[in-house]
Amino acid sequence: MKSARADTERVGFALVGLGHLTVSQLLPAFAETRRCRPVALVTGDRAKGMAVAARYGIAPGSVYDYQTFDRIRDDRAIDVAFVVLPNSMHAEFTVRAAEAGKHVLVEKPMATSVPECLDIIAACREAGRRLMVAYRIQYEPHHRRVRQMIRDKRLGTPRHALLYFGHNQGAAGQWRLDQRLAGGGALPDIGLYCLNTIRFLAGEEPVETVATLHSPPGDGRFREVEESVDWILRFPSGLSASCGASYSVHRSDYCRVMGSEGWAELSPAFSYPGPVLRTSHPSGHDPRAESVETIRLPRTNQFALEMDHMAECVQLDRIPETPGEEGLRDQYVMDAIYKAAKTGRAVALENTL
Ligand code: NAD
Repeated sequence: MKSARADTERVGFALVGLGHLTVSQLLPAFAETRRCRPVALVTGDRAKGMAVAARYGIAPGSVYDYQTFDRIRDDRAIDVAFVVLPNSMHAEFTVRAAEAGKHVLVEKPMATSVPECLDIIAACREAGRRLMVAYRIQYEPHHRRVRQMIRDKRLGTPRHALLYFGHNQGAAGQWRLDQRLAGGGALPDIGLYCLNTIRFLAGEEPVETVATLHSPPGDGRFREVEESVDWILRFPSGLSASCGASYSVHRSDYCRVMGSEGWAELSPAFSYPGPVLRTSHPSGHDPRAESVETIRLPRTNQFALEMDHMAECVQLDRIPETPGEEGLRDQYVMDAIYKAAKTGRAVALENTL
């Protein structure tokens, strides 16, 4: 096994936003990376910033706030700004980071509209900086194994997929229930995992969608954003995917791709500790007999894998596997899902992006 690089050679990350994901997952994950180190924090809460900085050996002078953010330009230890803010703030801080000369890793969803995604891509291109959307699932080995099985025709012809992500989202007053900050409800927050994952696994782009939204009347939490969404994607090969997401179910995350010669199932599919992968194939000559196998791959930290990928792209001057165009494509499909739900009609997706 290759040894870890010396600290001085590691790519320096500024964490922009000190919320739940940054504190509970991203900062601890640095210890499992091979190429990254946290060197700066950006937060509206200076006391919290100082306490977190001390825990991770970050200098007090490298704790910035949202107003002084642009000073990261002069902080040579920062190579990458990792934007981990409410969704509607991604565009502003990604563009500012690129203009300050930093590469950007931005959390999903990349932004809240197609024009914002285009602005982000243009800003990073003009600044000559790398842009990656933090789609951790695409770096996760079980998901990558399923994609390889599909490519190798191990499931025969993929015909149908089922993907679902839901949980109980909790009380009112949080930004995820505020349309202005979140850009939508269950769809961009957790439904996006189903959308991005099936595009990744299928290796083709959907051409049509139908959809419905639901928000229970009388539940004030869902006055602005949808509580749940169900949609179907049709792909050029004939594959169709039934997807759904909800803010009002007990924790459920699931993915199964069914082909003519077998299925592959990830359950759980999207949670942090990692998925469990099972496959089924015909057994013997009886078409009803199946052989079900659980495939166990070594446990990995998905956040460490995605950050290392970003760092590798910076070090080797490569385009990330999940560039801005990947986030743009998802935003485009999410817009179509909303349109399909609103009109009650199928919406065609042009593969021109
Ligand atoms: P959070 O609410 O825990 O943190 C948000 C941070 O933004 C907080 O530090 C908050 O103080 C700050 N903030 C700045 N301005 C704000 C404002 N006007 N309103 C509210 N907060 C403001 O959220 P989170 O769960 O850490 O999510 C942050 C981003 O990360 C989101 O885009 C989310 O979609 C994404 N996320 C990704 C994953 C993943 O697995 N990839 C998991 C969770 C969250």
